[in-house]
Amino acid sequence: MSLIVMKFGGSSVGDAERMKRVAKRIVERKREGHSCVIVVSAMGDTTDDLIDLSNQINDGALPAAREMDMLLTTGEQVSVALLSMAIHNLGEQAVSFTGWQSGIYTEAVHGKARITDIQPERVLNAIEQGNVVIVAGFQGMTQEGEITTLGRGGSDTTAVALAAAIKADLCEIYTDVDGVYSTDPRIVKVARKLNEISYDEMLELANLGAAVLHPRAVEYAKNYNVTLVVRSSFTYNEGTNVKEEAVMEQGIVVRGIAYDKNVARVSILGVPEKPGQLAKVFLALADVQIDVDIIVQSGVINGSADFSFTTNLNDREKALDVLERIRGEIGFREVTSEVNLVKVSIVGAGMVSTPGVAATMFKVISDLGISISLVSTSEIKMSCVIDAAPLQDVIRALHSAYGLDTTEQAFVGGPQDRR
Ligand code: ADP
Ligand code: ASP
Ligand code: MG
Repeated sequence: MSLIVMKFGGSSVGDAERMKRVAKRIVERKREGHSCVIVVSAMGDTTDDLIDLSNQINDGALPAAREMDMLLTTGEQVSVALLSMAIHNLGEQAVSFTGWQSGIYTEAVHGKARITDIQPERVLNAIEQGNVVIVAGFQGMTQEGEITTLGRGGSDTTAVALAAAIKADLCEIYTDVDGVYSTDPRIVKVARKLNEISYDEMLELANLGAAVLHPRAVEYAKNYNVTLVVRSSFTYNEGTNVKEEAVMEQGIVVRGIAYDKNVARVSILGVPEKPGQLAKVFLALADVQIDVDIIVQSGVINGSADFSFTTNLNDREKALDVLERIRGEIGFREVTSEVNLVKVSIVGAGMVSTPGVAATMFKVISDLGISISLVSTSEIKMSCVIDAAPLQDVIRALHSAYGLDTTEQAFVGGPQDRR
């Protein structure tokens, strides 16, 4: 008998019928003799709908982050209660808990808090008493008792962190595709399903936009060596194992391709060249929790330099406001920004030691007549920021150039009705 954490995403519990199907799947696992801890997300598009609702109330004003968390955590609470009822109706014992009832503590940041500690006694006691334990994903509590959320897609992180805390034998992430693919199977129909992928590669893919796993979930899995499987809640196909080391097929150097449409480019023009200037700029951005990604210096003329960086699209206005505020102090000339961009990235362990990987990426993009606005590389990834318009063509072309296309119709997924 083993202890399993099973996580079900929003589309897997999108309506009452799906919720009942998930309950059946859990009960099957239980009746195989396993102890099951379930993490579940808000139903279907609930989180987006709640955000829309708050936008209607706020008429463009920025809502208080605390109240936003109070609002968004309700989505997951609906799910846990309904799922628990559905399991009762199948004749099994189940109990639902919020994040805070499950002892999930986070730092005191609203909107994208990190888990700092899990005290799982209540969860463990409930398992001991024979319950299926159902935990609300994406939420936690600060030491001061404030409710927090873990960032969009954060239920994956609840699941993996909980699996580490209760020393589960396995953490299964059930979603609407049957594993991790070489790229988003909804964009490239000939994407190949990966039997396995290393933590490091998965972490890069997740950080670079592959929504199939929340980046922090992969971080946890790596740090605590959690056995992690991504699989479909709609089929019984074998999923993808995410593990320390994964075998790479002969002749293939790129494991996967990710894209992120959520990028903006901000340029700071005419920054006087003095020591400490850049530190001041980026400290000011960090103070308001703005994540900065690729940074480039694009030229020095007459003792002043231009800088560009990319940031999350949602943080663009906040970044422009902050920069405008410190413009006088730093003495730069102007701040501009660009949207309608996409960051396309290739990921593969050891690809840097293979000559020609970068050249291929540049050639594929330029053959499509697209210019590259920013580039960044590390040992196992390379990213180009380009015009968003021809995204599908770029990903398809890269996928085929790196020999990733499969000729079979590989994608067996769930519903296509969400996007
Ligand atoms: P859930 O609601 O179950 O958490 P998500 O929408 O967060 O599901 O993640 C699953 C989605 O991730 C898939 O529907 C797919 O479109 C997308 N995705 C992006 N990149 C990949 C990839 N490399 N492999 C599999 N799915 C991917
Ligand atoms: N419901 C949250 C979201 O939509 C968390 C999750 O689905 O993982 O982002
Ligand atoms: Mg998700």
